[in-house]
Amino acid sequence: MSTRASLRPAASRPASRPAGDRRPAAGGRPWPVLELDAVTKNYPSRPPVTALRGVSFAVAPGELLAIVGPSGSGKSTLLHLMGTLDRPSTGTVRVTGLDVAALSDRELSALRADSIGFVFQQFFLAEHATALDNVADGLLYAGVALAERRYRAAEALGWVGLGQKLAARPTQLSGGERQRVAIARALAGRPAIVLADEPTGSLDSATGSALLDLLEELNTEGATIIVITHDHAIAARMPRQIQMLDGRIVTDTTRTQAGPPTSSVPARTADPDSAGHDGQPSSRAEHRP
Ligand code: ADP
Repeated sequence: MSTRASLRPAASRPASRPAGDRRPAAGGRPWPVLELDAVTKNYPSRPPVTALRGVSFAVAPGELLAIVGPSGSGKSTLLHLMGTLDRPSTGTVRVTGLDVAALSDRELSALRADSIGFVFQQFFLAEHATALDNVADGLLYAGVALAERRYRAAEALGWVGLGQKLAARPTQLSGGERQRVAIARALAGRPAIVLADEPTGSLDSATGSALLDLLEELNTEGATIIVITHDHAIAARMPRQIQMLDGRIVTDTTRTQAGPPTSSVPARTADPDSAGHDGQPSSRAEHRP
């Protein structure tokens, strides 16, 4: 597939920059598509829970990374914040350079529709609709006209190897094919970021492995992909791994071109509250390398 140009989002830069300005940011690095700075998230439950405790990282266009951690480490909370489905308690989340705290709900919905593609473990496909319509309907909120939606949907299904199955309904597709439809739906709007939450969780290991191959291929063709997983074997396949524990980043590791050994960036911990859920200081941050 010759998708290299088409998978790269049209505007992988902050909206405040002039159109066509593709100069690298200061320091020679590309502008991040996603930036979290000292992010905390508290849930006002009884007892209150601090789910994120000063999380900071940035994702450059074209990265493929895993956010990995055990149950309760804060991955879902982080997914909601990265996906602009929720706002942080303190700290800053920027998507394509835009501070989500400064946006109205309507602006946030527009940013989400334009810039973020979601892939979930459960696929969430409409059973009565064809693969083509499942993908095309994902572009409704981006305000794309029907003919264009269908054209882009067919193109995206081609990217994931389902160009011959446009008219198939989900019940006529295997689990792996259904997840490919979900990936096509996420990619059809050429989002700045694809967030894949346990994308292989419903698949057998061979199908799951093939799906990871596909994500790697789509990444080499320009898509920026963040995989959220509890599975260290999946995370180990990714060029970059961010490990979470108790609401903190404990390691942020990027594999060098030649493969192992790895270069490890110490996790930044702007931690305004070092107390654990039980009010005791947490020593887990010592897991840092
Ligand atoms: P993970 O996805 O890694 O399992 P979560 O982000 O779901 O982690 O949870 C992090 C912590 O926040 C856990 O202690 C969890 O019980 C708590 N939590 C998550 N959502 C809520 C909520 N809506 N209200 C209260 N506590 C929550």
